[in-house]
Amino acid sequence: MALIVQKYGGTSVGNTDRIKNVARRVAEYRNRGDKVVVVVSAMSGVTDGLIKLAKDIVPLPSEREMDMLLATGEQQTIALTAIALHAINVPAVSMTGAQAGIVTDGVHTKAKIHNISPKQVHDALDAGSVVIVAGFQGETKDGQITTLGRGGSDLTAIALAAALKADLCQIYTDVDGVYTADPRLVPGAQKLPEISYDEMLELASLGAKVMQSRSVEFAKKFGVVFEVRSSLNDNPGTIVKEETKSMEGVVVRGVSLDKNQAKVTLVGVPDKPGMAARIFKAIGDATVNVDMIVQNISHGSGSPATDLSFTVDKPDLLKAQKVIEGLKQEIGYKEVLTDEKIGKLSIVGIGMKSHAGVAGKLFETLANESVNIGMISTSEIKISVTIDLAKGEQAIKAVHKAFIG
Ligand code: ADP
Ligand code: ASP
Ligand code: MG
Repeated sequence: MALIVQKYGGTSVGNTDRIKNVARRVAEYRNRGDKVVVVVSAMSGVTDGLIKLAKDIVPLPSEREMDMLLATGEQQTIALTAIALHAINVPAVSMTGAQAGIVTDGVHTKAKIHNISPKQVHDALDAGSVVIVAGFQGETKDGQITTLGRGGSDLTAIALAAALKADLCQIYTDVDGVYTADPRLVPGAQKLPEISYDEMLELASLGAKVMQSRSVEFAKKFGVVFEVRSSLNDNPGTIVKEETKSMEGVVVRGVSLDKNQAKVTLVGVPDKPGMAARIFKAIGDATVNVDMIVQNISHGSGSPATDLSFTVDKPDLLKAQKVIEGLKQEIGYKEVLTDEKIGKLSIVGIGMKSHAGVAGKLFETLANESVNIGMISTSEIKISVTIDLAKGEQAIKAVHKAFIG
């Protein structure tokens, strides 16, 4: 008898037939004697729909109220899934994140999990029930509802698997596993039998939304081995785990394109100590994540000034802009420009550590496609560039062909 955590994403619970399909799969495991904890997302489109409703009222709604609103999406699905299990005579009980004991900090819309005390989950499992937990949500110790960032049901599943010391953690989605690129963008993408935490983490942070990046970080920290697989067939999926020697032979494991980035440029920032510190402290205080940063010194006449550009997630652009505008007097920059028409293209692989010439080959491939490179950033196992969004799909196909085939 094993304890299994299964997570089903939005498409996998996208309508009542899909929910019945999930119930059948859960029942198979339960009926062979396993204890099953099921984490579900909101039905596909529901979270986006709720966000749109709020933004129809005001562009920057209160983050506390957004959490209150968005948490309802997952609550619909847990109840429907429990009902579908009852319909096939499987005892099941639904639980909110709070009932499952998921305690978070108070950073609304991107809360971090503090700890999990899954007493109710254990009790229900011991009583023979399947437990259905609402993904993506938690509660502060003061009883405020929080959410864990977009795609956060992945994190709920991984964190519960760690807290419950589950024997198996399965992430069911609408593709057969993790591919060398998004199979919707690159038809020639290949399914990977396995991938290391570090590679998965980079790919996830760089736009491969198949896994939420924070969930992978959590899995790595707590050594949770998990499988990404399809809820629509029985094909073996992709195992995500610690790297092994044999993984190093591959230079580029995957390619990603993040269409969800925006660039902010501050023109004419006085070139003196403390400016970048002031700007990024304020951005950080507003809990906006910054990824790439580029600074150019302008050599014009008058007092020296620099242009400072950085990228943020598109949904955070308005917030970042507000923060920057609030600093105009203090910093004395000339103007702020924003650009939402950028894409971030990245190649990822632990084999890059020991191979030279990878960056050159990437830049050459893009040059051959007449794709202009904006910002560049690198780490030991990845290279990212910003490019014109309109050329993103053409570029990712060419880069995939050059490095993977
Ligand atoms: P879920 O609703 O199950 O959480 P998501 O939509 O969040 O599913 O993630 C699955 C999607 O991720 C796939 O439909 C696919 O288009 C996309 N994706 C992006 N990059 C990759 C990749 N490298 N491998 C597999 N899927 C990817
Ligand atoms: N429903 C949430 C979202 O759409 C969480 C998730 O699906 O994982 O982001
Ligand atoms: Mg997802």
